[in-house]
Amino acid sequence: MFPSYTQSRTQIAIVGAGPAGLMLSHLLAQAGIDSVAVDVRARREIEETHRAGILEQGSVDLLVDTGVSDRVHRDGYRHDGIELAFGGGGHRIDFQGLVGASTQLYPQTDVFADLADARRRDGGDVRFGVTDVSVGDLTTDVPVLRFTDADGIGHQIRADFLVGADGSRSLCRQQVPADERRQYFREYPFAWFGVLAEAPPSAPELIYNHSPRGFALISQRTETLQRMYFQCDPAENVDDWSEDRIWAELQARVGANGYHLNEGPIIAKTVLPFRSFVQEPMHHGRLVLAGDAAHTVPPTGAKGLNLALADVRVLAEELQRALAADDITPLATYSERALDRIWKAQHFSYWMTTMLHTLPDATAFDVRRQEGELVALTSSIAGSTYLAEAYTGWPQW
Ligand SMILES: Cc1cc2nc3c(=O)[nH]c(=O)nc-3n(C[C@H](O)[C@H](O)[C@H](O)COP(=O)(O)OP(=O)(O)OC[C@H]3O[C@@H](n4cnc5c(N)ncnc54)[C@H](O)[C@@H]3O)c2cc1C
Repeated sequence: MFPSYTQSRTQIAIVGAGPAGLMLSHLLAQAGIDSVAVDVRARREIEETHRAGILEQGSVDLLVDTGVSDRVHRDGYRHDGIELAFGGGGHRIDFQGLVGASTQLYPQTDVFADLADARRRDGGDVRFGVTDVSVGDLTTDVPVLRFTDADGIGHQIRADFLVGADGSRSLCRQQVPADERRQYFREYPFAWFGVLAEAPPSAPELIYNHSPRGFALISQRTETLQRMYFQCDPAENVDDWSEDRIWAELQARVGANGYHLNEGPIIAKTVLPFRSFVQEPMHHGRLVLAGDAAHTVPPTGAKGLNLALADVRVLAEELQRALAADDITPLATYSERALDRIWKAQHFSYWMTTMLHTLPDATAFDVRRQEGELVALTSSIAGSTYLAEAYTGWPQW
């Protein structure tokens, strides 16, 4: 027997209500286009998942200029540079001096809350906590999204186009036939051990710390809460790490370059594996992919969230064209336009990762060669400018 579904119609059905899905839904609404976005997680669960923290200038402008957030400037912290620490000292990359741009420390949890609030304020149709999600009829004129809502009611929504914004374990991505997709993949032999600590900031800007013991990133959240990471084995068990052991390891890594961290209670510990992944093209029939569903980067360089927002800015434009012409050609245009930035970001994230992390079998030569690369970079206006330009974000299209 077939399950019974409540039938309805929308213009764009969006799988995933993370930053990519919600931002797209918001931009479409501003263009007078209806959408429905669904997410398997409850709003509270997404809001409490700590992830990205650094926004490019273009991401900040997108949130502010489209009326999503007026607090990103007020509650966030502007960073005009980063510190690269290696070889016994720190070397500042001055974003403002080099490229006249900045980044904003503003956690993804707040980006998500602002987007979810904006959708609710504007009467957007977003359903959290759904189950049994599936998509179908992708190569027909009326693709379908099916799911069971949080009250147990089955829904079947026909749409003009479907968007897979369902993150790095995307269900939608798998719907593209194997002979129509190319998948590019790289795994790394290390991960990040991430902690949230109740302590005052140890530095005004992020410190990317290279050391023979492995990489560490000193980041911030607020005046009383800090985010820090250190390179670890992907199989590391967080329970093997007491607070004392974590602080000793972090202090040893940054101490090699003359820094000292303010310590405090550690309230969260996670191991974050590293992957580089791209699926091309980012469309199939009337399905299109955006954000982590189509690509992931290692977190060094802070590109993941920013790429997701950059994708949907272009996608909203191309979906408007596709709807106006009732034609799928703009979906291919979206894929080509977005992939240009995605591969630049893939390179940047890979480069930052391999320059700063120590391979498990690294020799003394390997570590000294990395230090040589870091000296070459920080002593060169051209090298530092490339880093500053990529980190703060290439111009939007
Ligand atoms: C620990 C960590 C640190 C990071 N640090 C940074 C950083 O500093 N800077 C940066 O730019 N990026 C960072 N990233 C990456 C960034 O968080 C992601 O790139 C970003 O969340 C991508 O947004 P998205 O909307 O594409 O995907 P997601 O945020 O993953 O959202 C996808 C949504 O889809 C939902 N979903 C999944 N499957 C289904 C389904 N079948 N049906 C319906 N819904 C579904 C999920 O519940 C989720 O809410 C980090 C990531 C992690 C994990």
